Amino acid sequence: KAQAAVKIAKRSGKVEIYRNGVLKEAQRRFSIESRLRTALSQGELTLAYQPLIHLQTGEITGFEALARWHDPDLGHVSPAEFIAVAEESGLITALGRWAAYEAAQALSRWDGKFGKPLPVGVNVNLSPIQMARDDVASVFEEALRYSGVSGNRLTAELTESAIIVDPDKARKLLVALKDLHMPIAMDDFGTGYSNLASLHSLPIDILKIDRSFISTMLDDKDKQAIVRTILSLAESLNLSVTAEGIETQELAHALQTMGCGNGQGFYFARPMPEAEAFDYWRARWNFETV
Ligand code: C2E
Ligand code: MG
Ligand code: MG
Ligand code: MG
Repeated sequence: KAQAAVKIAKRSGKVEIYRNGVLKEAQRRFSIESRLRTALSQGELTLAYQPLIHLQTGEITGFEALARWHDPDLGHVSPAEFIAVAEESGLITALGRWAAYEAAQALSRWDGKFGKPLPVGVNVNLSPIQMARDDVASVFEEALRYSGVSGNRLTAELTESAIIVDPDKARKLLVALKDLHMPIAMDDFGTGYSNLASLHSLPIDILKIDRSFISTMLDDKDKQAIVRTILSLAESLNLSVTAEGIETQELAHALQTMGCGNGQGFYFARPMPEAEAFDYWRARWNFETV
């Protein structure tokens, strides 16, 4: 078999390139998995914090916590890549627990620096696989208790697929998170297959409009129509809205005019390390609101 493959490969450079490509991909996936396992057990991952901005007032309403990983050999690996590997390998449970604790601890460290609780919270991303496999509510309960921060400062971000997979389990989890006073956000809204009725019947507080609708909205009438529809849906259901992926002032202004509540994107700020995020907030917070 191997000899035959070599013969074919000799005849066709393409086959050889293909074989190499598949092999390299498998090797990379394997090394990501084993390095990630080590990184998690040795605390080598970090969270970066991207500000969430109130579009009418410019105030910082919170931060989204985004996992970051720099490996000495692999270099910077994107979350798109290592979250997928974590989901396939089961490491997502450990990663999810770590993220919940780390985000709660970051809030508690910021409070310590400021001398009292900051009037902002942190959003933590939940993977559907993590929700299926772990007792996420207990994880957050313990993270909150351990850090001493109140539940209303940790927002859970979940995707539509997490609800589709097992609606009953999702409902129980969301109810348990609400018992902890945690706000709940539907991430990447518009890209999945959510049942509109579930928006009404589940305890969801925030819709995050996916970047794919926002980024091209100004030259795409259809996308803009979708955004307007989501905004009016949110208003009718009494949900807050955050627009993802705002990269320009024009977009920020257009969304503000359309009545979108909050925004997030490189135009305002990139995700930053914990200490930098605190300085960013401290340089901008409004005395009267604390
Ligand atoms: P997400 O939850 O939708 O996070 C928003 C992503 O958009 C982040 O990518 C952020 O850096 C990026 N972003 C924000 N503003 C802009 C912008 O103006 N332009 C562009 N082009 N991008 C922008 P990131 O950090 O690479 O994360 C990608 C995804 O990985 C996240 O999408 C989330 O689904 C997942 N992820 C990240 N951290 C975690 C984690 O701790 N746990 C889980 N389960 N998933 C995570
Ligand atoms: Mg998110
Ligand atoms: Mg998102
Ligand atoms: Mg997204």
